[in-house]
Amino acid sequence: MSVSTTEKLVPRPPFSESTTDLILRSSDGIDFHVYRVVLCLASSVFRDMVGLAQPEDENMPTVRMAESGVVLDRILRFWYPGSEPVVENLGQLREILELLIDKYDVKAVVPVGKQFLRGYIESQPVGVFAVAARHGWEDLAFSAAQESLRLPLRSSSYRPPDELKYVSGIIHHSLIQYHYRCGEAARKACVCFIQSPPNWAYKLFDCTCTTHSDVTVWFFDYVHSFGDLVALTPSDRNAHDLMAKALKEATKCKTCSGAAHDGFPSFVSIKLLPLLAAKIAEVNLNLNGLGENDVPRSAPARIRKPRF
Ligand SMILES: [Zn+2]
Repeated sequence: MSVSTTEKLVPRPPFSESTTDLILRSSDGIDFHVYRVVLCLASSVFRDMVGLAQPEDENMPTVRMAESGVVLDRILRFWYPGSEPVVENLGQLREILELLIDKYDVKAVVPVGKQFLRGYIESQPVGVFAVAARHGWEDLAFSAAQESLRLPLRSSSYRPPDELKYVSGIIHHSLIQYHYRCGEAARKACVCFIQSPPNWAYKLFDCTCTTHSDVTVWFFDYVHSFGDLVALTPSDRNAHDLMAKALKEATKCKTCSGAAHDGFPSFVSIKLLPLLAAKIAEVNLNLNGLGENDVPRSAPARIRKPRF
């Protein structure tokens, strides 16, 4: 349920039970009724806070919390027995996880936290990367970094998500490094393809007409331009303009027109994209921000150079 910051929050079950033995009072004066034993089991930080609770209204031991009622409601509902997590967006999830894990040391929320975070990976991969990396969840950070390869992170038009404000420069740098290295691996794969095309490329796209020569010009122009594109957006799959331009050029002669319409789109999806994906898969993510040349010789497996 959404609660605006202007309306007074009224605690709902299970925090409205007056039969409990402790009150958590939010910074804006809203009382959440909880059981001491539940908080003590959750973390040593809560246990210490409960131990310092002083009786206030109605002689009920009360802990004054720094969080507002709205925030306290969210962080309690994320793990307290008898309630369900209420998370409306990635920003709320980031705050919930930071408070519960970093401030209150409630480690039990990590699995459900990662599960919720994974739900944003397609729509907000960079934000998910930032939150995962901050908590040291390397597996999830790597998945999010891979997902971010379809975004032009290094272009002037890219608008970074708020979640990046809450991570170190080293973590942000590690993402940009990874993105750059993947772009270079994909671009080099295209360059390598142009410099020494496999035999099947000759069979598929060879043309001896006067417009085109050897392995067809429009075909190599496409691969070259695609290399420039993936250098900035390593897993771009929407190069429709490049495809349209290549097909238009191919229709200038009968030989190329037939080859292009029969085999070119499938060449891209079956041959070129898997080749680039394989090269990108060789690139590793280093959350410590190490550059390619900073990796010690004793640990060469961390980053493997594409072999060109
Ligand atoms: Zn031709």
